Amino acid sequence: MKIFHNKADLKKEIAFLKAQKKTVGFVPTMGSLHKGHLSLIHLAKEQCDTVLCSIFINPTQFNDQKDYNLYPRHEENDIKLLKNENCDLLYLPLVDDIYPDGVQKKTYPLNNLGNVLEGAFRKGHFDGVIEVVKRLFDIVEPDRAYFGLKDFQQLAVVRWMVDYFGLNIEIIGGPIIRNNNGLALSSRNERLNSEQLKSALKLSKGLFYIKDNYKTETFKTLRQNVLNDLEKDPLIRIEYLELADSSNLQPIKDYSQAASPGVFLAAKVGEIRLIDNIILF
Ligand code: AMP
Repeated sequence: MKIFHNKADLKKEIAFLKAQKKTVGFVPTMGSLHKGHLSLIHLAKEQCDTVLCSIFINPTQFNDQKDYNLYPRHEENDIKLLKNENCDLLYLPLVDDIYPDGVQKKTYPLNNLGNVLEGAFRKGHFDGVIEVVKRLFDIVEPDRAYFGLKDFQQLAVVRWMVDYFGLNIEIIGGPIIRNNNGLALSSRNERLNSEQLKSALKLSKGLFYIKDNYKTETFKTLRQNVLNDLEKDPLIRIEYLELADSSNLQPIKDYSQAASPGVFLAAKVGEIRLIDNIILF
């Protein structure tokens, strides 16, 4: 695996590959890689001639400085995991390489997509995501880019961005990878102590419960049952548990209001903020 620390060298490598008509698949990450990330590398390997992963903890998408400072960093282990997965290229930039004119972000007209769920609870988060993904896309110019359905709204925002800038990049979503107990894998999970981990498991259990029962019960009833259960746990603070149309993330009241409704959840377990979702049909 070739490792690049600056964009000039990476661009040369990409130009060389493109001259040979090789397709480039791109998997942007913030590192502390787990099987969720590796599943995207795997998918990209199946579909592209060359796969590039980036690891960059993007300062502009954190609305909480403490979350940024405490974000896990495991570069050496990440490199090992990527080599095992036969990833071809790794881009590991410093902040200056991505933000040569200083760390800054613009505001993008996401409108309704930006005002709900994560957009409502993490002000400016998606502007930061768009800022970094656009800068990375401009450097890499991939044929395809891969994002996990775990960050469902982020995937929708990236699709919006590709359309907004008229980019010729195919965006591919990969399924949510969970541990044996159903917890969605996340780099932040390693910050959970054993008590918090037990509490965190209740989040996906709640989503599975809704999926198992939606055919016979209203969302209102199921949501209340889940909230009653989660609110008993002093370590959990729910930010939202909402039914939405998965095509545009807008809230709906009952399942019939969308062709494909999903349930979207964000909660803090102790200090650690987790998100998850499940598509009902
Ligand atoms: P992150 O490093 O958290 O920014 O994530 C990088 C990419 O991996 C994003 O596209 C995420 O949606 C994806 N990802 C993170 N966790 C999972 C998971 N459990 N299953 C599938 N994809 C994931």
